[in-house]
Amino acid sequence: MRYADYVEDFSRWASLGELGTYGEAVHDGTRYPYLRLVVDGARWLTITAGFHGDEQSGPRTLLRSMDRVVAWARQHDVGLRVYPCLNPTGFEDTTRYNRAHQRPNNDLLRYELPGGHVRGELLPGQRFKRWYVRTTPGAAETDALLPELEQHAPPVAALDLHQDPFHEGPGSYAYVFGERSGFHSMVRACRGFAPIVAQQQVDDVVPLSTDEHGLLEYADGSITDYFWRRGVRWAAALETTTDTDPEACHQVNLAWIHGFIERAAAG
Ligand SMILES: [Zn+2]
Repeated sequence: MRYADYVEDFSRWASLGELGTYGEAVHDGTRYPYLRLVVDGARWLTITAGFHGDEQSGPRTLLRSMDRVVAWARQHDVGLRVYPCLNPTGFEDTTRYNRAHQRPNNDLLRYELPGGHVRGELLPGQRFKRWYVRTTPGAAETDALLPELEQHAPPVAALDLHQDPFHEGPGSYAYVFGERSGFHSMVRACRGFAPIVAQQQVDDVVPLSTDEHGLLEYADGSITDYFWRRGVRWAAALETTTDTDPEACHQVNLAWIHGFIERAAAG
């Protein structure tokens, strides 16, 4: 899908809130504006999608059903900050990274380890002295997003929509932080649409396995990790495998978005 078509299609939701941009990429004279939709409310939920351009389900769910999402949010007096398609050139090219071969995901934080070394992520259980927001130049999309995120107080909840192109077969699971029982209702709501990827290793590099509910934790420098460090109580990165039927992925995305609106409303 051409990103210009995505932008044009998404602009039909302009009446739902304040639709704007916070920067743009330019390639061969073509502009790729970074979209943001803001809907006012008492407590805030941030929704992000499309960090990886080949994981198209999240951006498509928001393009298709933004009106439903905003209606739910209004019912609960939840404000939304929605970044529906964070990596426009990757989305247009169906590539994981952007057209300049930069990696927009997992590059928001730095961890200083006890010995003074600095890492972008932590191994499971690894201790660190402090964390800080990355200040050195990185992927253009993330460089535009970070000051945008930093200017607002942390939301109550933050949901990042991804897909997993590596895991074989249909399924869904999620990266979460903190107390996990609050996510179980969302996991249950998805069971009818896709199998839960439970007690399986989902990362080739780091030995990380999901629990029996398909949940796992990884301090990976992602936006989920970033929001957790900033004190966001409900932070998750939802994954559906790209082998999952697109309609099922859509329903899984909506179930988690609905659950996150309820969590944000409860505070
Ligand atoms: Zn991803």
